[in-house]
Amino acid sequence: MAQEETKKATLYVNARLAGSDAPQDILVEDGRFAAFGQGLAESLPAQGYDVANLETVDLNGKLVSSPFCDTHLHLDYVFTARKPGAVNETGTLFEGIQRWSETKSDLTVDEIKERARKAVAMEVHHGVQYIRSHADVTDPNLTSLKALLELKEELKDIVTIQIVSFPQEGMYSYKGGDELVEEGLRMGADCVGGIPHYEACREFGERSMHKVVELAAKYGKLIDVHCDETDDPNSRFVELLSALAYQEGIGEMTTASHTCSLGSADNAYFFHLTKLLKAAKINFACAPTENLYLQGRQDTFPKRRGITRVKELTDAGVNVSLGQDSMQDPWYPLGNGNMMIILDYVLHLAQMMSFPEIDDALKFLTVNGATTMHLGDAYGLEVGRPANFVVIDASSVFDAVYERAGILRSVRNGRTLFTSETRVDSDFALLR
Ligand SMILES: [Zn+2]
Repeated sequence: MAQEETKKATLYVNARLAGSDAPQDILVEDGRFAAFGQGLAESLPAQGYDVANLETVDLNGKLVSSPFCDTHLHLDYVFTARKPGAVNETGTLFEGIQRWSETKSDLTVDEIKERARKAVAMEVHHGVQYIRSHADVTDPNLTSLKALLELKEELKDIVTIQIVSFPQEGMYSYKGGDELVEEGLRMGADCVGGIPHYEACREFGERSMHKVVELAAKYGKLIDVHCDETDDPNSRFVELLSALAYQEGIGEMTTASHTCSLGSADNAYFFHLTKLLKAAKINFACAPTENLYLQGRQDTFPKRRGITRVKELTDAGVNVSLGQDSMQDPWYPLGNGNMMIILDYVLHLAQMMSFPEIDDALKFLTVNGATTMHLGDAYGLEVGRPANFVVIDASSVFDAVYERAGILRSVRNGRTLFTSETRVDSDFALLR
């Protein structure tokens, strides 16, 4: 019995934690963090550990971080960009929706899972262990949702997937849209979604925000709304969503994704709005590469960048996390799940390049993502929490950002998912 217990413990030595000058050791036992500190090996015999039989892994002074969170992705859309009829000629959000709508009728559960599995493998190899994926529920068969619910369960030992019941073609722009969103929640989706700026008129958009908050309260779900994903400065659903979430006391469970319109709104409006955002404590998810590509399409020059006010929100104490959003789908032809690229873009676009900002930048992929996903005690490098972490090929956060460093090792519940020696890129055997 004692031997079995010993087998489960692993001592990681020479780990560099963000914000700490000297390397530390990390003890992992029964899938959870048991201790952090310098020279742990010397103190363990006194605590009853058989150090000779302890598995020891030398991390050579490399950076240890909580795993990355991709807080905005569409796993049901991945790798559909080249399907006949799916090619988006104008590069706009709205043609993307049109192309998807026209080509989605042949989807099957197995086919979606096959594509999504490949996307998850790519993300995991880039250090992601937490994904919030939207599932299009504007299909009476709810095929996307069924596929992603199955995948979520099958892959839970490798990656945490949260699923949004997302009405890609609107809640009120056709009959029964809101009922499909609700059915998605009953089937097991984690979050209520919405797309108010796409609804046929402002009033429908507003109605959808009321409905989203009502459904979240009714079913005890999180909220993640595609909100104001437009250059139109008059698209102001984030204001309504925040006010309703605040009123209901569920702001921390609420996320506004994209919010591109804040990049076009004037400062006086944003100044006023910021008070509400702070009080409501809602989260923002920004998809910088996607919106850089999709927005500004009606502009000539000067041309807008399409991203929300990441720096100003962050400076105001509002939580902002990041998302890959697309991997080769009708909205965006690239996207490989490498969140370090997403981070690199946002630091440039938001002009967050002071040394303190760069030194603190990994928060966008880690703790901020966990806050958006409302992970609580299930996340973080702390004793008693699940031993989930990645080892980054850098010795500081600055170097990691500077080099867009790769992942040397990913550990989940104490189990090593892969190392730089064992990674499998071609057949995605990791997820089989
Ligand atoms: Zn999206």
